[in-house]
Amino acid sequence: MTFSNLTDFTNISPNTSGQRTQPIIYNIPHCTAVSIPAKRIGEIFEKPSRNASCQYGLGNDGLIVGVCPEEWRSWCTSSNWVDQRGITFEISSSNKAPYELDKVAFENWKKLSVDIMRRYGKTRLLYFPDAATAKAYKVKDNEMVIMLHRWFVSKACPGDWLVQRLPEAVAEINARVQEIAPVQAPEGEEYTIKSGDTLTKIGIMYGFTADELAAYNGLSDKNKIRAEKTIKIPPRNIQPMTASRAIEILQKVKDGQPGGLTVTEINEAFDMAIEKLKS
Ligand SMILES: [Zn+2]
Repeated sequence: MTFSNLTDFTNISPNTSGQRTQPIIYNIPHCTAVSIPAKRIGEIFEKPSRNASCQYGLGNDGLIVGVCPEEWRSWCTSSNWVDQRGITFEISSSNKAPYELDKVAFENWKKLSVDIMRRYGKTRLLYFPDAATAKAYKVKDNEMVIMLHRWFVSKACPGDWLVQRLPEAVAEINARVQEIAPVQAPEGEEYTIKSGDTLTKIGIMYGFTADELAAYNGLSDKNKIRAEKTIKIPPRNIQPMTASRAIEILQKVKDGQPGGLTVTEINEAFDMAIEKLKS
């Protein structure tokens, strides 16, 4: 039975289909819709009548309970398809919308996500705000994708509080994974140029500067790119996602929500934006 070393104790649930039939590619955070300790999460799912379980319960006491081993399929997301492929987390939250997660439980979800990605050789977590895009995305060997319970059943889970924070949380998880385990990025990733694209714009999507993309593709003039041609995206470990991080920071400042950012970070983001405008 596989549980993360971060697990404090286990309370194995009978509510499971047993051995999963699909490889793990999804990270599925849920909110408990009630603020409770890990022990209580374990107790809830140990009842057969509950007909539900999860892989991990993250309590408001900072403890983590293992409920279903990672190799089992949990009953958590109202979909066999997604639970067969996902690690499911029940994270302690407030009992009403937007279901703010208990801070310590939210931090534990990020820690567990990093640990799981490392153990399964994943270097990149992706979040698509659009359900159809997320479900259709062909997940690469080194990737995991966030799935949301609300995409499978009419429910608020995991709550707007988390949903709004997912882009930032995913960036943080990726930064931690890449810092600890700089593994090879996928080779040969390509992008098909669309009308109106610039190398700067494409670079922002992937976390590279226009100059880096031009150099990698042997382009003599970075201002001359043609629609429908493809360009190669460099392996991701050449440069962490600094440009995308800068975009996020500037967006937060623009939205008047710079909470959690340092002045140095904000200055660096502005410097990068100015560099881009000059180039
Ligand atoms: Zn849920």
